[in-house]
Parts: sequence; structure tokens; C-alpha cells
Amino acid sequence: MSHLTQQYPLVLWENHPILRSVSDPIALPLAPELQRFADTLLLLMHEYDGVGLAAPQIGSPIRMIATSQRKVKKDNYKHLGDTVMINPEILESSQETMITEEGCLSLPWVSWLVERAKKITVGYITVDGKKVTQDYEWFNAIIVQHEIDHLDGIMFTDKIVKEK
Ligand code: ZN
Repeated sequence: MSHLTQQYPLVLWENHPILRSVSDPIALPLAPELQRFADTLLLLMHEYDGVGLAAPQIGSPIRMIATSQRKVKKDNYKHLGDTVMINPEILESSQETMITEEGCLSLPWVSWLVERAKKITVGYITVDGKKVTQDYEWFNAIIVQHEIDHLDGIMFTDKIVKEK
């Protein structure tokens, strides 16, 4: 059951210009209203059953993403936790890539095959202002790459690959 009310923003769909713009870096320390915004971003990610959500998707072109981390074993997904990343940056990407089917809350009716780096190192600031450098791989790396793309106005449909 949904516990959302009208005070929450809606997820924007693919043809909205904000989804095609480059989002602004966030000034630190994080302003109180942006701490609340981070909570909203997480809440909406869960409400819409997403594994990630970027600020521009709910109408704010600022560099903040919510991501979910999972442990994947065969067909079993175990939820490990969620991370809000402020001013995230991919510091390193593996040469090795993987092709998986991706979807997006801003384009809920399709999924396509996309090729991405299998392992990445991400630098970001936490809501509490801590500087973090973190490695991600597989599923978790895909989510972070997909969400950071949103901050640069890139949709996953820009990266579709043909099935091999
Ligand atoms: Zn997306």
C-alpha cells in the first residue's frame, strides 16, 4: 500500500528536459533541506520498487543519487543496504564489461540490454559529509553507473546494445 501523499514529487518520464540536462554539484556541508531531500529520494526509490533513483528523476538537477546494494547468488537477491551518494564520481572502471538488461523508473515500460564496466571505483560524499571511496561490481556497479549517467543527462537507452 502506498503511503505517499501529494507532497512528494513524481518521477519524471523520458522526454522531460531535466532528464537531459547536466546536474549541478552540491555545496557542502549539506543544507538541511537537502538532507530531507536525500530521505525523500530513498523513500521514493523504495516506493517505486527501484534499485536506484537520481535527483533529476524527481525534478531536481543536483548531483545526488540513491542506490541499493545487493548480494546476488544465482537467482537469489539479498538486499544489503542503501546508499545516498552526493557528488558521486567514477574514479576507475574495469576494461572488462558486462551486458545486462536494464530498466529505469523514468521509462518504466521497457528494458534493454546495456553494456557497462564490470567493476568500478566510486568516490562520493555521504549525507553526513564523509568522503568515501568504494568499489562495486556486477549488479551493484551497474546501478551506480546507471544513476550517475542520469546526473549527466544520459539515459540507458543511449547505450543499448544488440543481443549477441
Ligand atoms: Zn534510470
